Amino acid sequence: MAVMRGRQFFQNPGPTNIPDRILRAMDRPVLDFMGAEFRAIAEACTDGLRRILKTEHAVVSYAASGHGAWEAALVNVLSPGDRVLALESGYFSAGWGTLCQKLGLVPEVLATDWRRGADAAAVEARLKADRAHTIKAVLLVQNETSTGIANDVPAVRRALDRAEHPALFMVDVISSLGSYDFRMDDWRVDVVVAGSQKGLMLPSGMSYTGASEKALEAVERATMPRGYWDWRPLLSGKRQARFHGTAPVHFFFGLREAIAMLEEEGLDQVFARHHRLAEATRAAVRAWRRNDGPELFALDPQRVSDSVTAVQLPEGHDAETVRRIALERFNVSLGAGLGPLQGRVFRIGHMGDLNEPMILGALAAVEMSLELAGVPHAKGGVAAAMASLTAVARAA
Ligand code: PLP
Repeated sequence: MAVMRGRQFFQNPGPTNIPDRILRAMDRPVLDFMGAEFRAIAEACTDGLRRILKTEHAVVSYAASGHGAWEAALVNVLSPGDRVLALESGYFSAGWGTLCQKLGLVPEVLATDWRRGADAAAVEARLKADRAHTIKAVLLVQNETSTGIANDVPAVRRALDRAEHPALFMVDVISSLGSYDFRMDDWRVDVVVAGSQKGLMLPSGMSYTGASEKALEAVERATMPRGYWDWRPLLSGKRQARFHGTAPVHFFFGLREAIAMLEEEGLDQVFARHHRLAEATRAAVRAWRRNDGPELFALDPQRVSDSVTAVQLPEGHDAETVRRIALERFNVSLGAGLGPLQGRVFRIGHMGDLNEPMILGALAAVEMSLELAGVPHAKGGVAAAMASLTAVARAA
């Protein structure tokens, strides 16, 4: 492969670009993880995570990828054989449901059209029919990273309320947190699952759960076997007092910087930046779509994700070819289609540490790759993205 100069444009929907500031914050000697200095840093980080999750409740951190926090969420509040309503709208929501099965829970999968996302009305109907309250938890992924769809968390909360159903409401915010709005307490989410490597701009390998009072009460009744994931020895009240084993000290140096970066920009401004970069990306795809070109995988304009755009290729064209050309010719890394979408879809991540010229550069590389791959499309995607960004800048 040819020698590449300059920075790789990393447009995967996780992990995302790690800002130099975070890399530098992590470039320091280790600390005693039982000492006062580290404890103060970890506490400050947990407080910061609370502000970002918009919660007053307990937050627990682990040295683990998001899969670990998925498992922690389940084993702490449920018991073997418990029925769980898993809202499947893509590869990741399906994966969380599969994990339930592996753990000895009984997932009832409420499948929806992957191009439209979770259906709150169907949730309400299913919960109303569950008069005996056999369903103990409802599982929702806020941002389905595989499809580029933002599920409506408050609408699903309302579905639980209208059905007057006491199930725990568990939400995965792995690819939405720090990219668009999430409100654990306002939306009365009982358990939230978050990860380090997306909107928080950190390396992969750390994950977090938030737990409401109701979830903490469930912990006492739950009988799933748990060791590493057990919240009980970790929590002192709502505070995480210790870790199972050695704390991931350097992650906390990075997390402290990430929180500072998000808060000095302001969460609302962070969300606005994600929205305008996402809108620009969608403008590009809509322009390419003319001439029977690629299209947005998400069909409902109200549900498009501000952190990732999934692009479906016209029949007979391979998304992997476009991805390979973008990487090998232009040093732009795009996300692959996952599960049944492999080869049908490529994904443009626009979450984390990104700005306008970065997204325009990536879109230009995609447009050139479409041309080189012989994929039908109309020209002008980048121009449409520029027009979208210019309009926002003019109005500001
Ligand atoms: N949930 C969502 C929405 C994700 O996007 C991912 C990973 O991309 C996961 C869960 C799994 O997280 P991890 O790969 O950190 O285990």
